Amino acid sequence: MTRRCLTLPLLVITAVVVAVLARYPVAADPAGGALQSGLGVETSDAPLDGQEGRPLALERFRPRSMLKVPETDIRRAMFPVVDVHTHPQIRLGKPGENSDDTARATSEAVDEFVRLMDEQNIAVCVSLDGGLGAKLEDHRRLLWTKHRERFVIFANIDFKGRGEQTKPESWDCNRPEFVERTVEQLRAAQASGVSGLKFFKEFGLGVRNADGSLAAIDDAKWDPIWRVCGQLKLVVLIHTADPLAFFEPIDATNERWEELRRHPDWSFHGPQWPTHEQLLAAFLRVVKKHRETTFIAAHVANLPEDLATVGGWLDAHPNLNVEIAARIAELGRQPVTARKFFVKYADRILFGTDGPRSAERLKLHWRFLETQDEYFPYAESPFPPQGFWRIYGVGLPDDVLRKVYYENAVRSIPGVAERWRRVAETK
Ligand SMILES: [Zn+2]
Repeated sequence: MTRRCLTLPLLVITAVVVAVLARYPVAADPAGGALQSGLGVETSDAPLDGQEGRPLALERFRPRSMLKVPETDIRRAMFPVVDVHTHPQIRLGKPGENSDDTARATSEAVDEFVRLMDEQNIAVCVSLDGGLGAKLEDHRRLLWTKHRERFVIFANIDFKGRGEQTKPESWDCNRPEFVERTVEQLRAAQASGVSGLKFFKEFGLGVRNADGSLAAIDDAKWDPIWRVCGQLKLVVLIHTADPLAFFEPIDATNERWEELRRHPDWSFHGPQWPTHEQLLAAFLRVVKKHRETTFIAAHVANLPEDLATVGGWLDAHPNLNVEIAARIAELGRQPVTARKFFVKYADRILFGTDGPRSAERLKLHWRFLETQDEYFPYAESPFPPQGFWRIYGVGLPDDVLRKVYYENAVRSIPGVAERWRRVAETK
């Protein structure tokens, strides 16, 4: 009896849902333009524009805040900044968000960026695009012919080399002499003035063993690399994992749904991937094992969603630091917690942008760190690119700001101190 009573209403509800879906297929939005491309969704005649009672596609939601609160007009950073996370090779090659590493930056583009650095009070940038070998030679020429005093360079390891994309057994990293050769290249790089070594997220999510399995971050075979970095005082800046939401299903509960829908290839959800927790745990085992090596975990160790945990890691590992590139969206949605984190770990947090960024985007960074402005966008793009929310400034005290903006980088990254002093004294 009870069962029959329930069945009929359920059928009715199901029928209504199906009817609504038929009229408005999920995410159909013919007017959505670029956001719609290539996803193969069905389209409907009814625009999801939110007008006249019609549903609204999330991509088209553009709420204008009615809030009236003070807005600080910041023109440039308060102190001369060291940006420890930039990609002049990757990002200056082709302007815009989607530049790729095949585009080549020109020396004119570098000149222009240095003018922007002057305007915004950025004294020194760390380029994370150095490569090794011949690529490093090119990169040194690009940045150091005219602007040696403004850039320090971190090398990168080419794990695939000339191997075939789909055949990990052909990749350089699976040749017996690979680690030994890399160590030699790092020695040469350090002798030529390189300050550190950058690992991209492929390390843990793309570098594979000959049998096709993902190579573990803490595989003992990499130990000579961590060791030589410690011996030579090369700082390791490492991107491990990605935002937590990228490891969750792409569904209506995912807080980065809009972004993942535009970039489904950014998802690491599924049995073929290690979990976020496994990746960070492997990284921390490396940090613990190699106490003589200084590590900077990029993007607040990819766990700005949980600063208490990141704080615990900093407590446990004196050779670990973090930088904030591309994470003011995360930090700025929790200004109370973030401010405490900045104050408590002021000696361990470095400034980064994942730039070169536009003047507008840079100013949002200054505003976030220097003011207590409320509810402002974290990016200049019309749709918030990294989560659909706004941020609040943390208004750091001057002594904390100095540490984050430059003192920590001056102290810990070789080559920064003399550059920073020369630029800060003359500008
Ligand atoms: Zn980066």
